[in-house]
Amino acid sequence: MLSAIDLEDPAFVEEVRRFARSTLSTQTRAKVLNGKLPDRAERTHWQRALVEKGWGAPAWPVAFGGTGWGVVRRHVFDEILAEEGAPNPPVFGMGMLAPVLMKFGSADQQERFLPRILTMDDFWCQGFSEPGAGSDLASVRTRAEREGDHWRINGQKIWTTLAHVADWMFALVRTSQEESKHKGLSIVMIDMRAPGITVRPIITLDGEHEVNEVFFDDVRIPAENLIGAPGQGWTHARYLLSLERTGIARVGQSKREIARLKALAARQRTPFGTLLGDPQFARRIASLEIALMALELTTLRMLGAMESGQAPGPEANILKIRGSELQQALTEAMMDAVGSHTQAYDPHAWADGTHEDPVGPPEAGALAGTYFNTRKVSIYGGSNEIQRNIIASRALGL
Ligand SMILES: Cc1cc2nc3c(=O)[nH]c(=O)nc-3n(C[C@H](O)[C@H](O)[C@H](O)COP(=O)(O)OP(=O)(O)OC[C@H]3O[C@@H](n4cnc5c(N)ncnc54)[C@H](O)[C@@H]3O)c2cc1C
Repeated sequence: MLSAIDLEDPAFVEEVRRFARSTLSTQTRAKVLNGKLPDRAERTHWQRALVEKGWGAPAWPVAFGGTGWGVVRRHVFDEILAEEGAPNPPVFGMGMLAPVLMKFGSADQQERFLPRILTMDDFWCQGFSEPGAGSDLASVRTRAEREGDHWRINGQKIWTTLAHVADWMFALVRTSQEESKHKGLSIVMIDMRAPGITVRPIITLDGEHEVNEVFFDDVRIPAENLIGAPGQGWTHARYLLSLERTGIARVGQSKREIARLKALAARQRTPFGTLLGDPQFARRIASLEIALMALELTTLRMLGAMESGQAPGPEANILKIRGSELQQALTEAMMDAVGSHTQAYDPHAWADGTHEDPVGPPEAGALAGTYFNTRKVSIYGGSNEIQRNIIASRALGL
């Protein structure tokens, strides 16, 4: 497939590809390419290799260990690594909390937390959503009450991705009861080993344990773990969420999945050859490729504008919608390509130490899991309905 990123800087593209191919372990790569989550040890290993190369946190300022690259080069880097089957960067710590600490945190907080985020000595989760506070995030009810040099926390979070393996959570909590619900919120950093925290798994449709409920029962955290001054949490949360949306189109990941779809279709026999040669299916793949090229070009156009100083506009919301729809359409095409073989899906087939042969063709094994898991992409990062509301009101003035 013709790729806009290959036109950017061929020597750089080649260097990143070579590094990924020579550094990624076969097992980690195989997991990512088959839609499985690498474990914490595998992710840490990869992240530390990037740090050693000087590529650990491309988006961070050089003073904090970043590369100083512009947004377009960072995008190209992320997309190549996604195509090559590298684990996603530790998004909650590196992509969300770190920029908030750099902009609003104290020097002590920056010194204490940023280096450990970079090396993944600390693994973070995001505690924003609650039952009754998802799209309407300002309705957060988890309370933090000041008691001397501590905050005492009570309440519940939900859908907390990877809370069961995280060392720390940054959480949106209510530090005072104000008339406007947007006021009185703060972001606090909570040590997940603190007494009074209970993490309960939520097993999703794909049979995996990725998200959790987290309960706080008189959890005490030091006063200095609050970011900025009490009551500034809404400003911090909005800044953080604006960062979340720009990276969500996942062009590199979708390129990887188109290659996987073609390989799958080439292996499915039909009375006239293979599914890849079937005119109807070939047309379906072509329309997905065209949509992906349009997404990539729009992404690069937005990033180019950002590089020359413009803030991301409604393009960021459009990219989130189109990127997530495309990811879902790709998993649907793959399910259709292998048909009933996906029924053989066994979530444990990929677990280390499993020696049983898969039922049906091996490439069908993890497809249903990926299909079910990908339903989430139109929900998180601000659901697609909420994105449409934003486009309607801010871009179209409706
Ligand atoms: C797999 C997964 C992982 C997640 N990980 C995290 C995490 O790590 N940390 C975290 O804090 N949160 C996480 N979330 C939570 C996610 O951010 C919320 O699910 C999301 O914001 C939607 O909120 P909700 O679930 O409360 O649904 P609701 O807000 O109750 O929405 C329900 C439905 O109503 C629609 N809707 C709501 N309001 C409007 C409106 N005004 N106009 C039109 N339609 C509307 C929504 O689009 C949705 O279809 C995760 C969610 C999922 C599914």
